Amino acid sequence: MAILVTGGMGYIGSHTCLELLELGYEVVCIDNLSNSSPESIRRVEELTGKSVRAYIGDVRDEALLRQIFAENTIDCVIHFAGLKAVGESVSIPWKYYDNNLNSTLVLTKVMADVGVKRIIFSSSATVYAGDNQMPLREDSRTGGCTNPYGWTKYMTEQILSGMAFADRDWSVVLLRYFNPIGAHHSGRIGEDPQGIPNNLMPFITQVAVGRRERLNIFGNDYDTPDGTCIRDYIHVVDLAKGHVAAISYVMQNQGCEVFNLGTGQGTSVLEMVNTFMEATGVNVPYVFAGRRAGDLPVCYAGTDKSAQVLGWKAEKTLFDMCRDSWAWQSKNPMGYLEK
Ligand code: NAD
Ligand code: UDP
Repeated sequence: MAILVTGGMGYIGSHTCLELLELGYEVVCIDNLSNSSPESIRRVEELTGKSVRAYIGDVRDEALLRQIFAENTIDCVIHFAGLKAVGESVSIPWKYYDNNLNSTLVLTKVMADVGVKRIIFSSSATVYAGDNQMPLREDSRTGGCTNPYGWTKYMTEQILSGMAFADRDWSVVLLRYFNPIGAHHSGRIGEDPQGIPNNLMPFITQVAVGRRERLNIFGNDYDTPDGTCIRDYIHVVDLAKGHVAAISYVMQNQGCEVFNLGTGQGTSVLEMVNTFMEATGVNVPYVFAGRRAGDLPVCYAGTDKSAQVLGWKAEKTLFDMCRDSWAWQSKNPMGYLEK
């Protein structure tokens, strides 16, 4: 069975390609390298001893997509390609709406034309409204997003679910990720953000490796046990396995279903820093800074539906996530620049 992975050279995409290859799937990938390096897929091939049919190009390029579907017999698409920097989406909203919405529109138009109507989409916990009770369930309220990135995820969910409603041949799975961190245990592939990281774990690992002086912890006056924000961190390898479970689902069902991919466990920023230091033996200097605009105090997933329907559950611990993030960063201090 062949899977087309858009954005397959990125952080989650490369880990998912690895998992798919190990399970014997054929993998075709398309990536425009706007936030990745082809070195990630080269290393996936090296780790698995299998090859990926890789196309360098943009998912909005309809002619290229038609060529890919003509040259390969694709059974299902996993659509990771997208821009994801929340702050940049506030400053350059058009770029986000253009990239994230048009990529989905062009992709699904070509898929419909060639009769491949199975798609798994990378959505996010950011689509949930801010006033829900925890844990967030798939039927918790969505909308009221606080930035254009979040709206592109919300709108893409609307586009794909509307298509599945109108044409029962479509099978759509919307996966709402919580906070992916960690790396493949080899330390050969991992998250390689450009510029100053926005997210907590890459910031911690860059402090640990000496690229940054200290971590700013955004707020220690939240109504949480230690005053810092709580999130649901999930190991990227568990997340990749969630996509494998979604492939089985999407191949056997029609319509549109949404699943959370999280652990159901909340971890505070301070707990994360302390676990990282314990797992790696490396000190991470930090200071408390002001709250970051838009941060929710607490966010974690309800996991019942993905366990019951997909038969998938995250297995790795916070300790594993810290150890593996560090394996990647310590072996590749400058990311994929180190070959
Ligand atoms: P990433 O930036 O590492 O990977 C995305 C990949 O898509 C990159 O390789 C990039 O070059 C490529 N890309 C972007 N636009 C493209 C286009 N128009 N055509 C072809 N390639 C394109 O990000 P990631 O962390 O691997 O995230 C994958 C997906 O999951 C994204 O859609 C992201 O929004 C979503 N997501 C990520 C997180 C997270 O915390 N990492 C959380 C929730 C959802
Ligand atoms: N955070 C922090 N310092 C950083 C980056 C993040 O204190 O340099 C905090 C952030 O305020 C949030 C948590 O870590 O409470 C997770 O942030 P991240 O951006 O990784 O995920 P998100 O908030 O988007 O879920």
